[in-house]
Amino acid sequence: MSQAPNLGESPIAPASVLPSYLQADNLGPWGNYLQQVDRVIPYLGNLARWAETLKRPKRILIVDVPIHMDDGTVAHFEGYRVQHNVSRGPGKGGVRFHQDVTLSEVMALSAWMSVKNAAVNVPYGGAKGGIRVDPKKLSHGELERMTRRYTSEIGIIIGPNKDIPAPDVNTNEQIMAWMMDTYSMNTGSTATGVVTGKPVDLGGSLGRREATGRGVFTVGVEAARHIGLDISTARLAVQGFGNVGGIAGKLFAEAGARVIAVQDHGGTIYREAGLDVPALLAHVARTGSVAGFAGAEVIANDQFWDVDCDILIPAALEQQITAANAGRIKARMIIEGANGPTTPAADDILASRNVLVVPDVIANAGGVTVSYFEWVQDFSSFFWDEEEINARLVKIMKTAFAGIWQVAQENKVSLRTATFIVACQRILHTRELRGLYP
Ligand code: NAD
Repeated sequence: MSQAPNLGESPIAPASVLPSYLQADNLGPWGNYLQQVDRVIPYLGNLARWAETLKRPKRILIVDVPIHMDDGTVAHFEGYRVQHNVSRGPGKGGVRFHQDVTLSEVMALSAWMSVKNAAVNVPYGGAKGGIRVDPKKLSHGELERMTRRYTSEIGIIIGPNKDIPAPDVNTNEQIMAWMMDTYSMNTGSTATGVVTGKPVDLGGSLGRREATGRGVFTVGVEAARHIGLDISTARLAVQGFGNVGGIAGKLFAEAGARVIAVQDHGGTIYREAGLDVPALLAHVARTGSVAGFAGAEVIANDQFWDVDCDILIPAALEQQITAANAGRIKARMIIEGANGPTTPAADDILASRNVLVVPDVIANAGGVTVSYFEWVQDFSSFFWDEEEINARLVKIMKTAFAGIWQVAQENKVSLRTATFIVACQRILHTRELRGLYP
């Protein structure tokens, strides 16, 4: 296990006014984010003078997470928490446990959270955390000890009014419960509002588990209407069949769409007539992967990008749609359930081929929207029913998407740039109102 902070492929970038670890060249997801910011600066008017703020995370914390393993040895894991921007409110963003987590990735994910939270206008800044670990290799006890030690280490910068973590890849309600308990033990009082995505019995919100997928579905339906795509006959390909991809796939199938291809870490399956989505979800819950699902053809992972479909939903990891495969995609529309799945070069290829990309920063904002509801419910200790939560979620998502669609039309820009315009104007406006301290 490497102990040095991992900055991506090439940690040393040429000298410039930015610190080396913030420069675009070869910095993976962070480099992609910087290119996205550069594309929006011409549309920011006077606020552009604050744009540098967007290129510098406010605070980066790298922590060593040592734990006792079951075999008696001590293992050290590399943990991060990055607060990109807190101008609009406390930091907010998930925690990822994955063997490929890097500082570049966590920085980019934290920045996309700033943009996303502003895009749907919830009163948060952006943050993200992660541990470089394959949690599938840990026992239940090791996972709990690692989660608790990580929470203690980042405890100096998180809190209900400072920065509120949530689930992301390979983290779930149980991990949020351990984080909440650890923070509460360290501060001496029960602090339900320190994390969201908790179990409902511990102050979690109804509808949170399904919220991101529901948001993907909601904006997908809106976008489809604009381009005259009929959901009830659409063919879908989904990459990643976890919390986001699984729920989104289920909702599209319930609306009549055929889910014809699904890929996850275990492989890729295909069925022209449409996969039985509830049965596939049950299979994944039982076995951990779509691999081995009866009644589907197995295709090579790379063939996934050639599947003849109408809608493609990347819902796994970042940098999946690149210049190398963007030209092969047949879909008319891509709805980004994952964060950062499309590189800027791929974005350009897709635009030239008239493929509509509904970007992550609006498409997957349903999760943080219901996290916001959870946080509000925790503060007031008054809990809403699921119907009310879903109705408020759909209203926020539709309103935000309609505004973004209009900005895209007015400025003749992509939905990604339009979302960045709306969000960055909000972030930088609060930056200007608050002024610089001291
Ligand atoms: P998850 O752990 O529930 O599911 C991840 C899925 O990705 C699994 O099906 C896994 O098999 C698959 N996967 C992993 N590596 C893969 C690979 N190399 N190739 C193909 N598939 C692979 O995670 P999730 O919560 O569904 O998150 C998925 C994406 O959505 C991430 O980008 C995350 O940041 C983003 N997201 C999640 C939420 C949320 O509320 N959970 C909110 C917004 C965005």
